[in-house]
Amino acid sequence: MSEQETHDVSVKPVEHFQFECKQCGFELDHEIGKHSLICRSCGAVEPIDSQNYNVFQSNPYESTVLKLVNKEPNESRFHVRCDTCGAGFDLSKDVHADECPYCGSNVVVPVNLQRQLVPDAVLPFDIKEEQANESFRKWIKSLWFAPNSLKRLAMRKHPIQGTYVPYWGFDADTFSQYTGQRGTNYTTTKFVIVNGKTQTRVVTKIRWRSVSGRVSKEFDNVLVPASELISHKLTQTMTEWNLTKSQEYSPKYLSGYKSELYQVGLPRGFGVGKGIMAQIIRRLIRRDIGGDHQRISSVNTIYDRVGFKLMLMPLWVSAFLYNKKTFRFIINGQTGQVIGERPYSWIKIVSFVLFIASLVYIGYLISQK
Ligand SMILES: [Zn+2]
Ligand SMILES: [Zn+2]
Repeated sequence: MSEQETHDVSVKPVEHFQFECKQCGFELDHEIGKHSLICRSCGAVEPIDSQNYNVFQSNPYESTVLKLVNKEPNESRFHVRCDTCGAGFDLSKDVHADECPYCGSNVVVPVNLQRQLVPDAVLPFDIKEEQANESFRKWIKSLWFAPNSLKRLAMRKHPIQGTYVPYWGFDADTFSQYTGQRGTNYTTTKFVIVNGKTQTRVVTKIRWRSVSGRVSKEFDNVLVPASELISHKLTQTMTEWNLTKSQEYSPKYLSGYKSELYQVGLPRGFGVGKGIMAQIIRRLIRRDIGGDHQRISSVNTIYDRVGFKLMLMPLWVSAFLYNKKTFRFIINGQTGQVIGERPYSWIKIVSFVLFIASLVYIGYLISQK
């Protein structure tokens, strides 16, 4: 899509979905934990006709990248005219599903109006807002060295936003050739002279031998966050996903939530994915080298049969203000896992360190008796 076209999209209202109840005309929300939409006015339920998505299938990477017009997507905004109240408004940057700011109606814009690649799968929300808040409170209480006032703050309710965040999932068969060294420990006896007397000491040394070899590894669903709106430090450490519950993408699952377009392009995403795979490959190489110590001099990896999929993952996103600083946290909308930034109480840390130091000192005094 050219820049001109991108600009046009933000001026003309875009086609979009606003799912309505067939019985009373009120808006429909995705019902958490179910494969259906529910009317918040009359309670009518409408099933979502989507199939379970097989997470072991993927799209070919190389041929797809060649077809991409934009390797890295532009920042984009949709202009929407609300079907319910008639107001016109812009969605926030890189967002394609949200609420109308005037009447609160759910709006979902089709992904293909701004991106060449549409999500293959969506992991629907399983955890409700209240459960997410409860997970957050438990997490705050479990933190070591957290200030007491923070624990009090946790008891308050925080505004929290249900957001679908795009992730790339990469598959690859890898073959790596390496060279390096294996270190083996051996002991020798050394003679030392202490106070004019000869004593023997056992010394451990390492004998290094050059080695080379090959390892292979099949990777499935190496997850890489495709959002820039939420810190990668948070989204990359969110690991507890049950991908087998993925559904084929349907915009109906997005009704009632915010949803982001991917902002990290496919090639850049694969670059990050390769970095994650490389770390795992190095661990395999160390195991292959064996011995007591390992050095890796060179690794040459071939990535074969690379596949990818684009998935929307459910996150409850929020932040809290503490000492005039914002700390963000995200809660897995499927499993309740909490990942967050957090403040530390330096008083608690210093007193803990002094406490340990005093134990060591007491131990030393006892050993001297
Ligand atoms: Zn209804
Ligand atoms: Zn509206």
